[in-house]
Amino acid sequence: MRDPRFDILFEPVPIGPVTARNRFFQVPHCNGMGHKDPTAHAVMRGVKAEGGWAVVCTEEVEIHHSTDVTPYVEGRIWDDADIPAHERLVELVHEHGSLAGIELVHTGMLAPNLWVRQPPLGPAHLAVPGTHPVQARRMDAQDIADLRRWHRQAVARSLRAGYDLVYVYAGHGLTTLQHFLSRRYNDRGDEYGGSLSNRARLLREVLEDTLDEVDGRAAVACRICVDELIGDHGLERGEIEEVLGLVGELPDLWDFMVGEWDFDSITSRFADEGAQEAYVRGLKQLTSKPVVGVGRFTSPDTMVRMIRDGVLDLIGSARPSIADPFLPRKIEEGRFDEIRECIGCNICVTGDHTFTPLRCTQNPSMGEEWRRGWHPERMRPKTTDAKVLVVGAGPAGLEAAQALGKRGYDVVLAEATSELGGRVAREALLPGLAAWIRVVDYRKGQLDRLANVEVARGSHLSAEEILAYGFDHVALATGARWRSDGVGRWHTRPLSLAGMEVLTPDDVMAGTRPRGARVVLFDDDHYYLGGVLAELLAGEGRDVTLVTPEARVSEWTVNTMEQHRIQRRLLELGVTVIPSHALVGGAADVARAACVYTGQERELPCDSVVLVTARLPEGALADELGAAIEDRDGPMVRLVGDAWAPGTIAAAVWDGHRYAEELDEPASDGDEPPFLREVVALAPAADVIPALRAP
Ligand code: ADP
Ligand code: SF4
Repeated sequence: MRDPRFDILFEPVPIGPVTARNRFFQVPHCNGMGHKDPTAHAVMRGVKAEGGWAVVCTEEVEIHHSTDVTPYVEGRIWDDADIPAHERLVELVHEHGSLAGIELVHTGMLAPNLWVRQPPLGPAHLAVPGTHPVQARRMDAQDIADLRRWHRQAVARSLRAGYDLVYVYAGHGLTTLQHFLSRRYNDRGDEYGGSLSNRARLLREVLEDTLDEVDGRAAVACRICVDELIGDHGLERGEIEEVLGLVGELPDLWDFMVGEWDFDSITSRFADEGAQEAYVRGLKQLTSKPVVGVGRFTSPDTMVRMIRDGVLDLIGSARPSIADPFLPRKIEEGRFDEIRECIGCNICVTGDHTFTPLRCTQNPSMGEEWRRGWHPERMRPKTTDAKVLVVGAGPAGLEAAQALGKRGYDVVLAEATSELGGRVAREALLPGLAAWIRVVDYRKGQLDRLANVEVARGSHLSAEEILAYGFDHVALATGARWRSDGVGRWHTRPLSLAGMEVLTPDDVMAGTRPRGARVVLFDDDHYYLGGVLAELLAGEGRDVTLVTPEARVSEWTVNTMEQHRIQRRLLELGVTVIPSHALVGGAADVARAACVYTGQERELPCDSVVLVTARLPEGALADELGAAIEDRDGPMVRLVGDAWAPGTIAAAVWDGHRYAEELDEPASDGDEPPFLREVVALAPAADVIPALRAP
């Protein structure tokens, strides 16, 4: 039953000619599927609608081939051939009574146009961001007229696909409309440059074109960056207030966002829920139109406050809707303790940056809805009366046990220690990672409700004990341990570190501290842990030198959009960073590091080294079990999660879920792919043969 405190979240909100049935608004977000995996994308959005989001939007959708973000995989509506994929998405969203929105984009000078090979367009002759050797071409009057026409054509196609809401997009530093609006990029001397009203001219024209084209058949939203966070070099509050004075009444909805994507989707390591509020507060009062905004909102109380305080009209969400597509329904039905809260880790974002389908630490079904038939809330009932033992209650074991329990199996989850959570329980105690404990909290909450799952803490099981219990299936989710021999990416053979005090992340997380003040931390892992441990040890007053073969600290976190923040934090803490070097050896009080290019060595005086390199699966129990089963009938045994292959927490949760989904199914890693996929449609032979013929 709904708590009346939250009634306000379920009020309908008129948006121009359409009405959102509640205030839950899934704002546009990337998903790595887009035009490449259209059915997977459409089904994922349909699940969001089923979960109660009143508005479900696409990611950015390129309006024309001159705006090509390859290799990123976003949406396309270049011509009529793209319409059927959008129709499918709209249909699945409509099936659950939600509104479907499309975020049209002209990325202009942001995209290097690698696939189409035409120079990008922008307000000025400027190099595209990043390092591609590509410059945008300054748009002339004809280019501006072309862009307006392309946008109109994309609007018309969006309506044909059935969308209820069409975006005009001027946010995230990603769009030509923002590039024109911002002093950062626009140095023009014509009527599109100079004064703010001139810089806002193209935005106004495109808004007017869009309103004219939709002609009351759909709502028009405008997503705009309200502060580029670079002071008076770019857009800031005063200018945005002025923009609202100029065009504030044009769209049917304002979608306010702050900074670039790395701030809009800032990780929990660097900001709490609602970090955007300070920038957005007060803007709603400058327009009569409804306002949506984000803030990694997972708390219904915070959501209510956003509405009551007049900050927002609609609760915008990308990540919380990924972690829990059923968030609105759970709030509506008063099932608060069942909410799978986003942990703010940005594994979801890494899908986009690695050009692969969206994934989520908390929600293993994300991106798998169509291709593997996984649903975030429903699982196939069990097919046998098999009894299952899950050994180890880290993320893999917890997920396997709760998912098997939901399928109806009788399950025992045995954990050696007194605490559930495995690596997550340990890592969540490290600086900035407290929100990650939600991975454990959600699963503990689910297990508490399942009478058919018994949780046995303090149960360190041996192979003989496991066999004595007579289970039909055993999942060994016993995790992995960090290596202490230096083997990782750079070294594939153990290092000679005789005489040095060597600590691993497991030692540090267990409370062991380096014996002296001078610590060399060798990070050959490149994700978060090396940087986090350097932060911990420096924060405790140690003199930390971080050595990495990469050019930057925590290099892989470019994919979670944290790298620049991590590097800044470590430098501010006084950590000495030695990039492009590998630890190559050492003696009692000195480590040796070599340049990865020249091999030239340098000595680093230190009392201890901390190795963040690679992990080894905890496989001893599996070996014992295998040996014991060899000569008798035994259970089906499978290694799950980090015990199978060490990886991310997201990968461990996913593997635990997969184990539960596939129990009693024929082995799926056979000769055929264990999932559905769409294969590109070949051009008709008639279009190919002439091209191959000699002249
Ligand atoms: P994953 O990430 O794959 O879930 P973790 O390392 O987080 O792996 O968790 C593994 C868990 O397994 C730890 O909590 C550990 O205490 C537990 N464990 C390891 N060996 C045994 C065992 N023989 N019996 C019971 N629990 C075990
Ligand atoms: Fe949230 Fe992490 Fe899931 Fe992204 S991957 S939605 S940040 S829990």
